[in-house]
Amino acid sequence: AKSSGKARIVVYEAEMDRRATHDAKLGADLRRALDRDEFFLVYQPVVRLPDGCPAGAEALVRWRHPERGVVPPVEFIPLAEQTGLIVPLGLWVLNEACRQAAQWLRDLRTTGPWKVSVNVSARQLSEPGFAVQVAEALAGWLLPADRLMIEVTETAIFDNETATATLRQISALGVALALDDFGTGHSSLSLLRTAPVDVLKVDKSFVDDLGGDNAESTIVTATLYIANGLRLSAVAEGVETPTQARRLYELGYQLAQGYHFAKPLPAEEMAALLAGAAPL
Ligand code: C2E
Ligand code: CA
Ligand code: CA
Ligand code: CA
Repeated sequence: AKSSGKARIVVYEAEMDRRATHDAKLGADLRRALDRDEFFLVYQPVVRLPDGCPAGAEALVRWRHPERGVVPPVEFIPLAEQTGLIVPLGLWVLNEACRQAAQWLRDLRTTGPWKVSVNVSARQLSEPGFAVQVAEALAGWLLPADRLMIEVTETAIFDNETATATLRQISALGVALALDDFGTGHSSLSLLRTAPVDVLKVDKSFVDDLGGDNAESTIVTATLYIANGLRLSAVAEGVETPTQARRLYELGYQLAQGYHFAKPLPAEEMAALLAGAAPL
């Protein structure tokens, strides 16, 4: 038993080594990826219920790795956060999304009230000068502030005076703010008073509860109640089935996002949706 325990430890250490090497390699690749233009954005529609007309687009980053192919953000955002690379990467995402939104605004004949939203990590929000970078991106691409939304998690702003002050500056520019993954972080309802929030994005895990036989709607209902009371919008995330979509509509949700409506799309496909503003 003793020797097998030892063997297990050796195997475990080998696995740790393998992972550390993997991370180190990926980290080194990540540092070069920005210079090599390997990142791109896809856009997931946020739709109106019940008709499915696009009301906005969330920008989601992808990495086209020369050997691994397209790498999803779960595999490199945490690493980028650890190494600080999220700061220049996040700045690239912000500028690319603003560039794209400004181009859509020029090219598309219909100009419905859609916004493009950008995910911002805690680390970016704590950088002094982030609000200035947002102002510069808008001015640089000639994008009206009301076309941009910034998505942050509760955890990123919880107990963080710098982050909250930055959000107030961004909000003063006319940019909308969404609380992402609402209900899963360091939830504190007092956040909704101190941070200038416009939108609550109800996390997929609560939307999942709506399906199936033991449908459970307490959290999605309570979140909508809070949003309505505070005059915020609510977006239900991760809607995968017609049943969930119908339940959300019956509960009073007006906005939703998820594979049931559309997966994240290449920019051209998102543009076609915005141009038509047609039901999905
Ligand atoms: P998020 O901001 O909560 O984004 C939603 C994620 O859920 C996206 O994954 C989206 O593709 C996925 N999703 C949407 N609808 C459905 C659905 O119906 N079912 C399922 N199973 N998934 C759905 P993605 O693109 O892999 O992004 C994962 C996370 O990575 C994002 O979660 C966000 O936290 C982070 N992320 C993505 N892009 C950026 C970025 O540019 N900057 C930062 N800081 N974080 C980013
Ligand atoms: Ca998000
Ligand atoms: Ca989310
Ligand atoms: Ca999430």
